[in-house]
Amino acid sequence: MRALVRGAGVAGLTVAFELRRHGHAVEIVDRTARAGAGASGLAGGMLAPFCEGESAPEAVTRLGRAAAEWWEAALPGQVNRDGTLVVAPPRDTGELTRFAARTAGHEWLDEEGIAALEPALAGRFRKALFFREEAHLDPRKALVALHAQLVKDGVHFRLGTSSGKDFDAMFDCTGPAAIGTVRGLRGVRGEMLYLQTSEIGLSRPVRLLHPRHPIYVVPRADHRFMVGATMIEANEGGAISARSLMELLNAAYALHPSFGEARVIETGAGVRPAFDDNLPRVVRIGDAIHVNGFYRHGFLLAPAMAQEAVSLLERVPA
Ligand SMILES: Cc1cc2nc3c(=O)[nH]c(=O)nc-3n(C[C@H](O)[C@H](O)[C@H](O)COP(=O)(O)OP(=O)(O)OC[C@H]3O[C@@H](n4cnc5c(N)ncnc54)[C@H](O)[C@@H]3O)c2cc1C
Repeated sequence: MRALVRGAGVAGLTVAFELRRHGHAVEIVDRTARAGAGASGLAGGMLAPFCEGESAPEAVTRLGRAAAEWWEAALPGQVNRDGTLVVAPPRDTGELTRFAARTAGHEWLDEEGIAALEPALAGRFRKALFFREEAHLDPRKALVALHAQLVKDGVHFRLGTSSGKDFDAMFDCTGPAAIGTVRGLRGVRGEMLYLQTSEIGLSRPVRLLHPRHPIYVVPRADHRFMVGATMIEANEGGAISARSLMELLNAAYALHPSFGEARVIETGAGVRPAFDDNLPRVVRIGDAIHVNGFYRHGFLLAPAMAQEAVSLLERVPA
């Protein structure tokens, strides 16, 4: 079958990957010239099915558990499987107990355990939760690598938009651009920034709990750290607000004062496409199969949704 995929974010690229795996011919069209230009390029890249279970429906944990393996098989060497550390300032240790009660897959660490995992945090927190089975990847590197693999595998990329008229099947993976077309889809703004400093090193994502401003810090290559992310009910990307910038920086500083000396090398805001239950969906609308609504879980749930989308194509004649 000849399939067109609209959108080269994490949704579109994983659908294309699964289509090729099933032997279909694939073309991808994106209105920008590069893969990951939308929300996908701003993500933390955390594959955290257990931590996300704290506030997400059970399906997120269930479907997300296989994500790290999917990414590792697709892009060998790109997945870091060192888990997630969750800490809270001494005055908010109640938040840790609450987090533990709402999640599975963790173990408690004391000060010594924290120092053994992340020496840079030695003496800063009395207790932590360690989610050993969680993983993360660098979303930008992963999308560039997936794009390159697809090209090598014969997938043609085109700049622009397309009605999909000349194809046997069409997958719409345009993320927040489909708000207004796909019923119930809304935008949730997420702001983030990148810090760079060689004063501190981390080996895994660290989440800092706070009643109002929980944040996470994800280490990247070259002494860079992605700090995220706000959750604001708005279909609006663009520049980060001054308030969010202050909150993210304050929280990073609370995690470790060395972040106070770091360089702010990038800030940004993306729109997470989401349905009312914050779960992604594969839905047929007219002659297109829409794969959308990934909310906070694009990298975590795209593999499972791509597989579901391809099986829908093969079940129902186009
Ligand atoms: C700050 C932040 C942090 C996040 N952290 C994580 C995380 O740690 N882990 C995780 O799993 N998820 C995370 N997410 C969520 C994840 O980024 C999103 O769920 C995911 O990127 C959505 O992917 P998408 O492919 O549906 O949309 P997008 O990435 O927005 O891609 C849509 C693509 O469609 C293209 N397009 C739009 N309209 C058209 C058209 N008409 N024709 C052709 N192309 C078109 C766009 O150019 C774009 O390339 C985070 C999100 C944000 C904002």
